[in-house]
Amino acid sequence: MESYNSFHVAQKQVQEAAKILNLGQAATELLLWPQREFKFTLPVKMDNGKTRIFHAWRIQYNFARGPAKGGIRFHPDETVDTIRALASWMTWKTAVVDLPLGGGKGGVVCDPRNMSDRELENISRAYIRAAFPYLGIDRDVPAPDVYTNPQTMAWMMDEYETLLQRHHPGVMTDKPQQLGGTEGRRDATARGGVITVREACRCLAIDPTGDFAIQGFGNAGQRAALLHNEILGGGRLVGVCDSRGGIYNPNGFNVKELVTHKLKTGTVAGFPGASSVPRDSILEMNVDILYPAALENSITLANADKIKAKIICELANGPTSPEADIILNKKGIHVIPDILASAGGVTVSYLEMVQNSCLDYWSEETVHQRLDKKISTAYHTVMEAVKEKKVHPRLAATIVGVARVAEACDLRGWV
Ligand code: GLU
Repeated sequence: MESYNSFHVAQKQVQEAAKILNLGQAATELLLWPQREFKFTLPVKMDNGKTRIFHAWRIQYNFARGPAKGGIRFHPDETVDTIRALASWMTWKTAVVDLPLGGGKGGVVCDPRNMSDRELENISRAYIRAAFPYLGIDRDVPAPDVYTNPQTMAWMMDEYETLLQRHHPGVMTDKPQQLGGTEGRRDATARGGVITVREACRCLAIDPTGDFAIQGFGNAGQRAALLHNEILGGGRLVGVCDSRGGIYNPNGFNVKELVTHKLKTGTVAGFPGASSVPRDSILEMNVDILYPAALENSITLANADKIKAKIICELANGPTSPEADIILNKKGIHVIPDILASAGGVTVSYLEMVQNSCLDYWSEETVHQRLDKKISTAYHTVMEAVKEKKVHPRLAATIVGVARVAEACDLRGWV
């Protein structure tokens, strides 16, 4: 069995890109490490009256191109290295879509599935009290990630503004729209991913209306299910799983009903008319397009060889292990890498920051158009790099991102 440390994987990717780009020793080392790391120990009052201590981080990986940007995750398995890896990937992600932002990530070790709303609010506010000096629209701007959402952002923004004694909505993105959130942010990660699939199908002459499967049915997975048909003009969703189970229907699911079932019961399992299947089998289904939309390291040596999809659109961060990547490439599967496929979310986060700064709010159509342009341009830039450097799409995307960040570090006189 492979053993993974996501940060080591991320460092290896940077090293490979730096080598191809002939970056100097100092530039390479600078990009191999976060520029700033903050560790917080948060005392939080629980519903039973007792105080519990939570461990948390905010990591600002690189801010040469702009303020650090990236989500805050609430998850029991977080470690300093998972956050470092995610912060590194955010840095290349914002650069690949050419946003004037750096990369960062935060996390709290906790399990929101076993916590009340009041406890989650207490954690969110405690996190901001600890991170307050390091945040702001021109410093570091968090957003939601796994098990956090617009409500989390609302609590965090409120705590930040209370401490600042001023309005400052641009400190968080993916806020509720009533509090300065933008149109089109909730489905932006999925929309960006489906747009990359559309471009890939055009380039590779693949029919986009074949069957597809989704591994992970949180925000990104659900929205991809809904948008796939709208953007690609067809396609049947035949397999889905989440952390509690997997389901299959060769005739395709009614996606709207499936999303309602998930929201009602908390899982896709037990959806009427579907056969229950092992969660892992979703990745191996006979489909044209596969969306991994769960956590890191889902596609590994254990299953890469069994994957049948023609296109893998990585809506999750880091779903494929490096060994698995090699196998997928050998099999000729077109992998649209996470830092490109999942960049729609942060792209619309950036559009939200712009709107917060000028107090001018745009229509959903405007947001969709701008997102589409950014993502399709990025897709083609990465594919150009594939051809020019003769590398696979993940390395090509990393090369594009690392080159842009390295150039900014160089212009600043850092290296
Ligand atoms: N958490 C999302 C991601 O991993 C969004 C980050 C953001 O909008 O800042 O891309």
